[in-house]
Amino acid sequence: MSDLTVRFWGTRGSIPTPGRKTKKYGGNTTCVEVRHEDSLLVFDAGSGIRELGMSWLNEFAGKPVNAANAFTHLHWDHIQGFPFFSCGYMPQNSFTIWGEERHSTGVEQLLSGQMTGDYFPIELSSMQAKLNFKTVDGPFEVGGMTIRPFRLPHPGGSLGYRVEADDAVFILATDSELDQIALNKDELKHNHQAERKYEADLIEFMSGANLIAIDTQYTDSVYPQRVGWGHNSIATVVDLCIQTKPDMMAMCHHDPQSTDQMVSNMSDDAARRLKRAGSDTLVFAAREGLTVKAHRPKPPPAIN
Ligand SMILES: [Zn+2]
Ligand SMILES: [Zn+2]
Repeated sequence: MSDLTVRFWGTRGSIPTPGRKTKKYGGNTTCVEVRHEDSLLVFDAGSGIRELGMSWLNEFAGKPVNAANAFTHLHWDHIQGFPFFSCGYMPQNSFTIWGEERHSTGVEQLLSGQMTGDYFPIELSSMQAKLNFKTVDGPFEVGGMTIRPFRLPHPGGSLGYRVEADDAVFILATDSELDQIALNKDELKHNHQAERKYEADLIEFMSGANLIAIDTQYTDSVYPQRVGWGHNSIATVVDLCIQTKPDMMAMCHHDPQSTDQMVSNMSDDAARRLKRAGSDTLVFAAREGLTVKAHRPKPPPAIN
């Protein structure tokens, strides 16, 4: 049985936030690497993909890199690192790039838009790696991994991805405001701590994960001023964990206003609430450079 190895290269939401106050969790925007056996998959190309590219240059030392990239959506903080993805400029490399069409425009055109005219000095066509663009319209495979997309509530829409390989399950649910699709949305407006009720397909998609990385941008006190901005509060993700029972939950898409201390306080708060609810989900805040193995705990040996 082999694992899924998940590495966070960018955990910040909305805009890169370098500096002393974000040193622990990192200031780079979303980029998550997943490995299974020798298959490589990268979710999103926020500014974190620059470091990932440099790490691969070092690791592969001129040998061809074949990988897949999948985009959750094309908001700026999820694509802004792509022009700085050094592996994309090397002819021996090849990338299959998955994303959704927007208004009949494919991911290639959408990505090249930020590299044209007044926006950037070099065009997408300068990338000499083989780039094979594909439209996400259902589950797809990368090596031994099956990747299932799921639509998440976010302005303009965003995709969650469920990665399954052997027995391991990793879910990436960044950029989501689940309260917007709660069946008891109106109740939540005046009781934010109420138990959320969702359609069964959402719970099914989110259940059985060894690791879920989920947008937890806001504290419960900030959220009421940010309703409709497309991101979750702590109460929402804690409730989701109670309902879907992942082994581990990584809070991600940290708010640019959140210092390291604030992010730590948020994960402590989430951990306390889960413990109080009797949940044994291990919760932590995702930080740049953190590598997590997603796999099922081994069953205890049979006693004859
Ligand atoms: Zn975002
Ligand atoms: Zn977004």
